[in-house]
Amino acid sequence: MASKKDTPHKLYGKLKGQYRQKSVKKRIEALFLDNIGKVVTREQIIKAATDPKTGQQPENWHQRLSELRTDDGYTILSWRNRGDLKIQEYLMPHTRKRSNAGKRVRPTDTAWLAVLKRANYSCEWKEAGIVCGLKNGEIDPVGGGRVKLTPDHKNPHSLHPDTDPEDPAQWQALCGRHQVTKKNYWDTTTGKLNTYAIVQFAPETEKKRIFHFLLSYFGYNIRRDGTIARQK
Ligand SMILES: [Zn+2]
Repeated sequence: MASKKDTPHKLYGKLKGQYRQKSVKKRIEALFLDNIGKVVTREQIIKAATDPKTGQQPENWHQRLSELRTDDGYTILSWRNRGDLKIQEYLMPHTRKRSNAGKRVRPTDTAWLAVLKRANYSCEWKEAGIVCGLKNGEIDPVGGGRVKLTPDHKNPHSLHPDTDPEDPAQWQALCGRHQVTKKNYWDTTTGKLNTYAIVQFAPETEKKRIFHFLLSYFGYNIRRDGTIARQK
């Protein structure tokens, strides 16, 4: 088992006064830029993002944070990318921005219509062989709220980014909840599945299977009394 001293030392950031930038996104950006390499917490983000004039706390800060990643191209790590961060802790390791950020490809109107028809105007997310199937405008019984289908590029690191917008086969219709699921499990900064997040969200029985797999993979046995020992 890894010992605590393997974990790099975490430094926590601070708010440098009140953030007076015009938009919620700009105020969150300023907070991160003031705290490069340091952990910024959810509470700090909400505090920094609060409207300096009205004192109103933004409900949509999470969305703005996500835009700093996707549209502005900043690297902002969370527990999903770094094991030593807790849930609701974030870290901007450096100020560099990805230059191709913001150029989000979208399907053409014709292609999107073809996708919706193929999907029968319902979410195409498939998990363990079961299709989500929620229809545009329905209430999502799990996440709540009305379903709005949006296009998802099946492979964000496509070989043919120029022709994909016209090709319905490259796109699927997803409900909001499954857009989030895909974002969480697919790490767009590395183009790899986010295995850590997948395991973390997996049901207990799956976690147990993985635990046993890893034990045997690394050469350990569970004894009858529940203790773990190296295989002889
Ligand atoms: Zn869905």
